[in-house]
Amino acid sequence: MDYEDFFRTSLEGLRAEGNYRVFANLERRRGNFPKALRRSGGAESEVTVWCSNDYLGMGQHPAVLGAMHEVLDSCGAGAGGTRNISGTNVHHVALEAELADLHGKEAALLFTSGYVSNWAGLGTLGAKIPGLVILSDALNHASMIEGVRHSRAEKLIFRHNDLADLEAKLRSVAPGRPKLIAFESVYSMDGDIAPIAEICDLAEKYGAMTYIDEVHAVGMYGPRGGGVAEERGLMDRIDFIEGTLGKAFGVVGGYITATAAAIDFIRSFASGFIFTTSLPPHVAAGATASIRHLKQSGAEREGQRAAVARVRAKLDRLGIPHAPNPSHIIPVMVGDPVKCKMLSDILLEDYGIYIQPINYPTVPKGTERLRITPGPLHTEADIDHLVRALNDLWSQCALSRQVA
Ligand SMILES: *Cc1c(COP(=O)(O)O)cnc(C)c1O
Repeated sequence: MDYEDFFRTSLEGLRAEGNYRVFANLERRRGNFPKALRRSGGAESEVTVWCSNDYLGMGQHPAVLGAMHEVLDSCGAGAGGTRNISGTNVHHVALEAELADLHGKEAALLFTSGYVSNWAGLGTLGAKIPGLVILSDALNHASMIEGVRHSRAEKLIFRHNDLADLEAKLRSVAPGRPKLIAFESVYSMDGDIAPIAEICDLAEKYGAMTYIDEVHAVGMYGPRGGGVAEERGLMDRIDFIEGTLGKAFGVVGGYITATAAAIDFIRSFASGFIFTTSLPPHVAAGATASIRHLKQSGAEREGQRAAVARVRAKLDRLGIPHAPNPSHIIPVMVGDPVKCKMLSDILLEDYGIYIQPINYPTVPKGTERLRITPGPLHTEADIDHLVRALNDLWSQCALSRQVA
């Protein structure tokens, strides 16, 4: 086989479909977020980032940076081992206690990312609970899908947020078999939110456990940033709450919280937890500082909500179509991969606005979009500039508008 030729032809296929990924080369500047320097072909320009998952700007928060500097200087760079072999640091232990408290659970377990926490968590439950059937929402994140697949457990995929379909699938499983319903709270690409209480009702009725991915909600929903389940008073009805430290908390890492026994079980059997170097201590300390800050400060959440409402209202006034949803994610629908990429390129080159195009396979073909995530640090002027740019492009490219 001509390996090189195979690699090249595969990539040409992606390019022809408009699905080839090009990364914007950014230099984030502390104190200037959401502005960043962009490097392209030897040139440098300032851009405003409108697609960051550092939703609240915690990646530059003084409390987070202060904690990280302090622990970097006191502990050094890396953890020095896996959790089992010399890599458990006081800062990991403190962070796990903080996370258990955030979600009102007995215990928490840290992973190197949210992806790994889903992959290892679902993978371990599915592989180690004899006969487990996993009921998985059709729009679950790739990390959950891979975890379920890796577990080799039987899986039933229910239609997205569809309680009737979920119940039909629950009913189809023999009553005595162990079951786990895996779903998300805020879905990252459409920004819609699961009917969590109703899913818990079904879980109780059919004797199933529940596993929720709150990655796009932790830090941002609930009075202490515990997520949508906290906001709705449902944390105690969910068996496993999974989250990330890399989005609203602004650092990196992932976790699962649950009962002490369930967490000890995953800790003891999850290969993706056991056989990898633990997070650097200063990263753990930064995440702890971020969580603590957002537990007692609502200002960032309020600022984000105000910015989201402002952007939506201005888009509505101009008839620029965006999918309605109750969350902070604004999907501006384009519906064509080549156009979506082109719009993103023009925004970047001509307006200094960075919004990564979201194409297949991240979203289904025909639903390509610009996913906008306004935050508390986007100013009124930033918002006006964004909306004016989109308005120009909608006219230039003769894209359809929505009459209110
Ligand atoms: C980003 C994401 C993850 C993975 O989290 P990381 O910490 O970035 O690895 C998991 N679930 C969902 C829904 C996500 O969007």
